[in-house]
Amino acid sequence: STVSVGALARLLNIRLEDLQEKMYHSGMEAQSSFDHVLTSDYAVLLAEEFGRKPIVNDEAAFDLYPPPPHPNPQSLPNRPPIVTIMGHVDHGKTTLLDTLRSSSVAQGEAGGITQHIGAFSVPVPSSLANENGVQSITFLDTPGHAAFSAMRARGAHVTDIIVLVVAADDGVMPQTREVIELIKKDREKVSVVVAINKVDKPGAKIEAVQKALLVEDIHLEEMGGDIPAVHVSGLTGQGLPDLLDTISLLAEIQDIRAEASGNVFGYVLESKVVQGLGPIATVLVLRGALEPGAHIICGTHQARVRLMQDSNGQTVKHASPGMAVTVSGWKSLPNAGDEVLEASESDIKRALVNRKRKLDINTAMADVEAINASRQQERERRQAEAAAEAAGQTTPTETVVEEPAGPKELRLLIKADVSGSAEAIEGALQGIGNHLALSKVIGSSVGDITESDVMTAKAVGATIVGFSVNSNRAVEILAARNEVPIVTNTIIYRLMEQIKERVIRLLPVTY
Ligand code: GDP
Repeated sequence: STVSVGALARLLNIRLEDLQEKMYHSGMEAQSSFDHVLTSDYAVLLAEEFGRKPIVNDEAAFDLYPPPPHPNPQSLPNRPPIVTIMGHVDHGKTTLLDTLRSSSVAQGEAGGITQHIGAFSVPVPSSLANENGVQSITFLDTPGHAAFSAMRARGAHVTDIIVLVVAADDGVMPQTREVIELIKKDREKVSVVVAINKVDKPGAKIEAVQKALLVEDIHLEEMGGDIPAVHVSGLTGQGLPDLLDTISLLAEIQDIRAEASGNVFGYVLESKVVQGLGPIATVLVLRGALEPGAHIICGTHQARVRLMQDSNGQTVKHASPGMAVTVSGWKSLPNAGDEVLEASESDIKRALVNRKRKLDINTAMADVEAINASRQQERERRQAEAAAEAAGQTTPTETVVEEPAGPKELRLLIKADVSGSAEAIEGALQGIGNHLALSKVIGSSVGDITESDVMTAKAVGATIVGFSVNSNRAVEILAARNEVPIVTNTIIYRLMEQIKERVIRLLPVTY
């Protein structure tokens, strides 16, 4: 919902000038004309400035959350363990994953094409599977991946077991120690198996690795400790059955269980746009079962699940906990590392409206805060200058060095439909910002945006601003290729807002 500035003043029962004054001080002068239409988020912020509490009804606060833990987890079926392979660079993580992945294809159905979707599943040898109920192991594909950091930052524990790879010819290295630190922190939730790798190499020194790990407080079983170790070669495949055995044993001890039916809870591991399918995302299911037709939400993105495929390119009709499948049917591209929840179509719609609204409010707040912060800095700078002048001192050079050499510039190249409007746009867009970041018009002319405009803009590092003009696809492609931003609109104040946003992005980040 929206309200004009004039109407908001009437609603708040205040003078228009008072509201405009407040808007100016909140960095919203560009929107302060009486007929400017404000979104409800800005209106709420302004109402709060006047000490009014905007009404937030329950409906507007609706959101979806993961279901609470099951009251009786022992009654749930087992789910495959989720395993991450970690270790120092070049110690053989990728090779190990590739070999494990190809063994999964060999035992899986024929005809599939292996795809990197962020995770794959390896069946456990049947003798063991019967014994302990662990049927397969899910390996996460891309450790050190953005999704990982995002999930960790959220405190999400997706990994059940870490395989710490240490090359037998290289030993404990800096990233090995990083993984060890991480393991020590997560000891309660994660079990560990050490894979001493590259044992096929003539220079392999297994004993030296065992001792080096002991120094790091990693007591291997073979040294009388409690952490299992296997000797493997990712290259030859030697010792891999042993690795799978050890993982399934650890999984059995952990007794990993999850709801195999009901609404899905999981995470997006990867996402991308695929021609013909639109946005697709790999969903790692942790609880519940995912099936085509389900409605899911991830951040501010939604999908009605269309096609699901596993890492062998096989179509999947039912994804149970521990499985990772690519999902098509998204209306927009979700972010890797974000939580996925299934719900009814109407609940997802309600949650989406509110999540997007929250995002808008946060953006609006950030805008206002950025402008206020830079104004504050400007005031402090002036006060310091005035104080220094009053004291009759020349400012010492050290403190001058702290100040930026001048404002960061947002250079603009204006293209408008007629010369009258070119002048108006130039007047409106010149000098938006402050001493830290400022817009500067470096050229303005009449006519559609051309390829030569793009090349000029590239040469001087400018943004092209188009007012009521057109550009063709060739021009847009050229601009994209040369990273020349083009901003167009047919409404002057919208252009001003767009430029203001870009100027704000140039502001230094203050914490
Ligand atoms: P990552 O950086 O940990 O993913 O390591 P890679 O899997 O890329 O391996 C680094 C190098 O070590 C590559 O040249 C691999 O061929 C080699 N390598 C990996 N595993 C083995 C192994 O088991 N034996 C031998 N001899 N070489 C290996």
